[in-house]
Amino acid sequence: MRLLIIGPQGAGKGTQAERLAAELGIPHISTGDLFRDNIGRGTDLGTLAQQYMNAGNLVPDEVTQSMLADRLAQPDTEPGFLLDGFPRNLPQATWLAGLLQERGTALEKVILLTAPDEVLIERMTARGRQDDTVEAIQRRLDLYHAETEPLVEHYGEIVVPIDGVGGVDEVTDRIVSGLGLATR
Ligand code: AMP
Repeated sequence: MRLLIIGPQGAGKGTQAERLAAELGIPHISTGDLFRDNIGRGTDLGTLAQQYMNAGNLVPDEVTQSMLADRLAQPDTEPGFLLDGFPRNLPQATWLAGLLQERGTALEKVILLTAPDEVLIERMTARGRQDDTVEAIQRRLDLYHAETEPLVEHYGEIVVPIDGVGGVDEVTDRIVSGLGLATR
């Protein structure tokens, strides 16, 4: 299955993506994790990405896309994948559609995981990541509304809206049944 999960920061995307990918036996591909891995290994890409990330800004599309193209070229993505954090804007979505079309495939479903702002902010502040300053959190939320939210309309019928408020298991069950997969 070729899936994408989108939603504001703090909606529980990373956690749910991890669980769902394990359940479906497909790789969980998070562009944020790929950047953090590069930062951890001290690569040139990591150094470049870090300045954007710490400010809560998007890393330039060409940089992100070339990193993702490398990841999607790996054979473990053949049975499918769950993308998390990419695409984050319409140009990235168009680029991805082109890349998948070259393989004769397309995204099948887009999971939209949402929660009210109070819940998001509470979860974000509890997370304590290096780029979780008040300014960066606010900036990422603004960017989500301006650039990422339009993807919901763009993907239209394949979007599966999921309420992200509740226990982790409860939300996973909602996603599994929302995707029309057998309940566990
Ligand atoms: P995340 O782990 O998804 O919250 O991503 C952390 C940071 O990585 C973001 O704030 C961006 O700076 C960068 N990033 C992740 N995915 C993308 C993307 N698709 N396009 C541009 N920047 C990204």
